[in-house]
Amino acid sequence: MSRLSFTLARESSDSKARAATFQTLHGEVSTPIFMPVGTQATVKAQTVDSLKAVGSRVLLANTYHLLLRPGPEVFKKLGGIHRFMNWDGPVLTDSGGFQIFSLPHERAMNEEGARFKSYVDGTHYLLSPEVSIETQRAIGSDIMMVLDQCIPSTAPYAQAEAAMQLTHRWAERSLRARGDSPQALFGIVQGACHPDLRRKSAAFLRELPFDGLAIGGLAVGETHLERYEFTGLVTDELPRHLPRYLMGVGTPIDLLEAVHRGVDMFDCIIPSQLAQRGVVFTSQGKLQLRRAVHKFTEEPLDAQCDCQACRGYSRAYLHHLVKTEEVLGWHLLTIHNLRFYHRLMQDMRTHILRDEFAPFYEKMRVELIRTDEEHPSRPTKQKPRHTLPTRLGDYEVQISPQGYANIRQISSGEVMHSVSRPSEEANRLYIEQSSLATRLTRTDQEAGEFVIWDVGLGAASNAMAALACFEEQWRKNPTGIRPVRLISFECDLDPLKLAAKDPGRFPHLRHGAPHRLLENEQWQHPSLLFHWKLVTGDFSKTFEGTAHPDLIFYDPFSYKTDSALWTADIFARIHHFCRPKAAALYTYSSSTAVRVALLTAGFFVAEGVGTGPKADTTVAFSRAPGASGQATTPKLLGEAWLARWRRSGSKFPTHLSNEEKPLFEQRVESHPQFACVV
Ligand SMILES: [Zn+2]
Repeated sequence: MSRLSFTLARESSDSKARAATFQTLHGEVSTPIFMPVGTQATVKAQTVDSLKAVGSRVLLANTYHLLLRPGPEVFKKLGGIHRFMNWDGPVLTDSGGFQIFSLPHERAMNEEGARFKSYVDGTHYLLSPEVSIETQRAIGSDIMMVLDQCIPSTAPYAQAEAAMQLTHRWAERSLRARGDSPQALFGIVQGACHPDLRRKSAAFLRELPFDGLAIGGLAVGETHLERYEFTGLVTDELPRHLPRYLMGVGTPIDLLEAVHRGVDMFDCIIPSQLAQRGVVFTSQGKLQLRRAVHKFTEEPLDAQCDCQACRGYSRAYLHHLVKTEEVLGWHLLTIHNLRFYHRLMQDMRTHILRDEFAPFYEKMRVELIRTDEEHPSRPTKQKPRHTLPTRLGDYEVQISPQGYANIRQISSGEVMHSVSRPSEEANRLYIEQSSLATRLTRTDQEAGEFVIWDVGLGAASNAMAALACFEEQWRKNPTGIRPVRLISFECDLDPLKLAAKDPGRFPHLRHGAPHRLLENEQWQHPSLLFHWKLVTGDFSKTFEGTAHPDLIFYDPFSYKTDSALWTADIFARIHHFCRPKAAALYTYSSSTAVRVALLTAGFFVAEGVGTGPKADTTVAFSRAPGASGQATTPKLLGEAWLARWRRSGSKFPTHLSNEEKPLFEQRVESHPQFACVV
């Protein structure tokens, strides 16, 4: 039976987030919870009173540091860490494993444990599972951790497997060493970034009589997306009835993402470490107090915060304290940051208890990655970066001479949005030209769902431009907007995965939606008025199973790379499928072959706007364009274009036989579009 009597209060219906309580030797704990780190039996620059005032409930202490100084004998004599530091709430101690394996010092490791030399006085120590537990028993923490072998999360398979197996053997020894102590003990799942090792480790540890299970070895080298992925993969394997603790993580957005994946407990030095550097988290984004913009500012750090720093002091004063490196500055900024963390955890718990976590998660994903929006720092002019582009599968990041990033397909050499900044091209070609903002406005005639096809999701430039357009309209008039269904078609998600790893270079991806789409193949705006769905696989085989479009962004790779998506056959099928509605298709191509394919498929074809060095693009309408909400009357191809086509060397598609040519010619010549032309 668990020593913590862990009780689930609520599990989210549309997320893995959960709210629970458990009982420790020093009182009840509600989860999800953030635990400030008190390495040396003190949270740096804080008193127990200031910690209680910001809402801290559980503190974390480091066994390794306390073993060396003051030493377990001090805790034995003075009656444990609670009396020693005057803290009457719960304490969790780590095992010392992380410090032994991550700090640079001499050590020798074998089955028994790790031998190392103290940085304090040069004494030799053996840290074994038994010594670690004995020390934690002397410290008298409420929750102890097993000794584990920590390795970089990027460690190769064989090394990760050996470390995991040693950690398992040490876990069993730790349980034996705990004996009948009333202190709780957590096992630690290891396995680096190898899914099967992580699953094996969780499966092994959940069979042992632990009071909780931790995820170790993350936040040490992997990307954010990998961290999220492995967190979710491990929590899927953990029992429901035990607390789950993600060790050493992280930033506010990391906590949100991990709670969403079913984690209950966290610790991290970030709130205190960033405070020391003058950085605070606020409801308006992250602020750097060292910056001169705060020198004369009388307002508080965060008008929405109730902490001592925000209630009592101006930004100007805190800026001064940070600049002069006064310890009061560190004290006050840590208070604020801890308050921010604890409030975030409380908010998450509240929303889980109401089963409203999913919309909260979507909202906060956007808010928590904001930077100082009031005072954006202007980056100093940099030379274009010439570092090696990052790669994934057949794609790599390419930096243009103007400094913006694009995705390039390596095998074809083709660059997505090759002619201008991706978001500019997306806006000009697909959003403005289609008058999307106007068309999203609810009117008496047009109130139903507006369906957009995004053919060729790529790095989601066009889709995100559509979402940005929706969000802007929704902010202006939340009740006057039509519901939107955006369907993105893509056969290879590597371009988006690659770009999503680097939102610094792809700023349109600084939004929760594309990341959620990659995970769940769908995303919904908190208003429920915008639903984004991903359809994977070959567009030609999938589109007929989706909703009839009003608007089509037709942006696959070019004819040269992906010829099947530019034939008259595929356009005829699209045209046929569009019959229930009047649909408009926008594409970057202005080639005669593409236009003639659209015409023979039954579309009315017009010239689209130019973008970058391209003089024009193409718009195709499934019905004769009339009052279809267009801002400007489309310039349908006319007699001049027809004359050019008649003279063109590429008048017929290459696959056409000689017998087929007259019929093809007649279909173009007799198209009603040209019949109208006088
Ligand atoms: Zn505050």
